[in-house]
Amino acid sequence: MAADQPHSRPKPQPPREIPGVGAVLAVASGKGGVGKSTTAVNLALGLAALGKKVAILDADIYGPSIPRMLGLGGQTPEAVDRKITPLEAFGIKAMSMGSIIPGDEPVVWRGPMVTSALDQMLRGVTWGDLDVLVVDFPPGTGDAHLSMTQKVPFVGAVIVSTPQDIALLDAKKGAAMFEKVGVPILGWIENMSYFNCPHCGERSDIFGHGGAKHMAEETGMTFLGEIPLDIRIRKTSDDGTPIVASDPDGDHAQAYRAIAAKVAAKLG
Ligand code: ADP
Repeated sequence: MAADQPHSRPKPQPPREIPGVGAVLAVASGKGGVGKSTTAVNLALGLAALGKKVAILDADIYGPSIPRMLGLGGQTPEAVDRKITPLEAFGIKAMSMGSIIPGDEPVVWRGPMVTSALDQMLRGVTWGDLDVLVVDFPPGTGDAHLSMTQKVPFVGAVIVSTPQDIALLDAKKGAAMFEKVGVPILGWIENMSYFNCPHCGERSDIFGHGGAKHMAEETGMTFLGEIPLDIRIRKTSDDGTPIVASDPDGDHAQAYRAIAAKVAAKLG
């Protein structure tokens, strides 16, 4: 009978595991510029510091920033037997469109091309044995989110937001999108949560404070922790020496590692 139905469509395929990869973890935000990639990189390094085998996949095809943040600018991954060998930095593997399309060239692609590139970056890569693959999503709720969550069984998503309402509202939408497609939210991280002046020692809550914690509590989710606005985080991230790797004993690295430990506990 089904064949007689004029509009019968093929059933969507259920998400398939990636061979050798344990948990796939999404890191997402609503808005851009809230420090999601910085957080994803430092969280990945925090997980690696716990002894996990970790890789990071930059799913931001239009604005990839992971190669630069890991000091991998200018390096191109090799292809062996039609599979890409991911680059490595600070003990984690990394795959990004920014390593494939070099320099300042913009990616001007329609949705289906983005989807197929993401597929290639997920399954056409020799990941080896991994405990965790951290996927750094682009901001918003677009093609990348839908396509990835349909193809891969994500263990959960971590939502990054700054404390102000304008970021939180979009982050809430991002969280709702993941839940809608069956990916549980493991928790919220508040980035740029407060600022301690290095000169006078006074604290200022530049973007407000506590909004992400409040949002997590309001929606029955876990609050994973807060990261301050600090020039050392900005500098190390932009210089390709993320703070968890370059200053592992400092306060900020400890804050990221504490968040990583909570995430690891949730990953099981
Ligand atoms: P997103 O991925 O949300 O677009 P990025 O991680 O690219 O954001 O960060 C945007 C800018 O903010 C970068 O220059 C980064 O170094 C900086 N940044 C991120 N988090 C912090 C922080 N906690 N303190 C200071 N600067 C930060």
